[in-house]
Amino acid sequence: MVKPFVPQLVYVEPRALDYPLGRELVNKFEKMDIEIRETTSHNQVRNLPGENDFQRYRMAKSTLVIGIRKTLKFDTSKPSAEYAIPFATGCMGHCHYCYLQTTMGSKPYIRSYVNLEDIFESAENYMKERAPEITRFEASCTSDIVGVDHLTHTLKHAIEYFGESEYGKLRFVTKFSHVDHLLDAKHNGRTRFRFSINDDYVIKYFEPGTSRLNERIEAAVKIANAGYPLGFIVAPIYLHEGWEEGYEEMFEKLVSELPEHAKKDLTFEFIQHRFTKPAKRVIQKNYPMTKLELDENKRKWKWGRYGIGKYVYTNDEQKAMKESLEHAMHEHFPEATLEYFT
Ligand code: SF4
Repeated sequence: MVKPFVPQLVYVEPRALDYPLGRELVNKFEKMDIEIRETTSHNQVRNLPGENDFQRYRMAKSTLVIGIRKTLKFDTSKPSAEYAIPFATGCMGHCHYCYLQTTMGSKPYIRSYVNLEDIFESAENYMKERAPEITRFEASCTSDIVGVDHLTHTLKHAIEYFGESEYGKLRFVTKFSHVDHLLDAKHNGRTRFRFSINDDYVIKYFEPGTSRLNERIEAAVKIANAGYPLGFIVAPIYLHEGWEEGYEEMFEKLVSELPEHAKKDLTFEFIQHRFTKPAKRVIQKNYPMTKLELDENKRKWKWGRYGIGKYVYTNDEQKAMKESLEHAMHEHFPEATLEYFT
């Protein structure tokens, strides 16, 4: 069982102390006897302990920076939502394939932003632009925010904020099961709580430091019983020996554990494994023993965002995985919706 995250080291930007959440977090970590250092900016954390890159990378993944979000222009977040809402950056998990490996580069520490009012104000402007259309905000584009939320309660604030909103909805995804503090949040059905799930092989070999499948399913049951709209992202779908049986077992476990009422308004998203050349270099540096298959010759090259090409499965493989997983989904959850396969 993965215990709730506790940072080994905390950095704080002095300006974060101008905000109630900043002061509250510093008090909390002082009481927990965690070393707190000052940093001029959350982008400039230097001198992390460790004798080499390998050790410093692991230390960074256990380091929390309390900072201010200055960029209040939100990125788009297709296909799952209109915008990414930035409450945190970074993650304590060690998934070998994680996209954060490249997007965070030399700064893999976890940043939590305390100027929530500024972030909500910006969200409000985006909603106004699109009203009366609903605007969906994705809170897990640059982090697994649930993994740190038992400490910060940022997400809980956001859930209640969007619970009151007329034109906004919130969504996020997690591989962590530490959801108890979110069960009494007044969500008003406006937050879709998704869990990222996978078959036993992928979780065992590629997702260290995250909750196991049975823990994620137990958490999903609690979330469904708390009345949240629920969803599952199967990602990354990864072809390995026995993958079809693996994913079938995953669906069987899910259908046997979820309460009947949760099976009605259920969404699935399917995302195949992909990698870029820069990601491959970083993965092999940070996880040199990984079994992750990263052979460009076995994949199809596809244009990605910002002109960086990515390697996806061949057309035949994509067709096979889409058909197989869709079939299992419809068989076990006939009322569920598949939002996309990518
Ligand atoms: Fe990356 Fe998600 Fe794994 Fe965290 S839990 S390391 S964000 S894939």
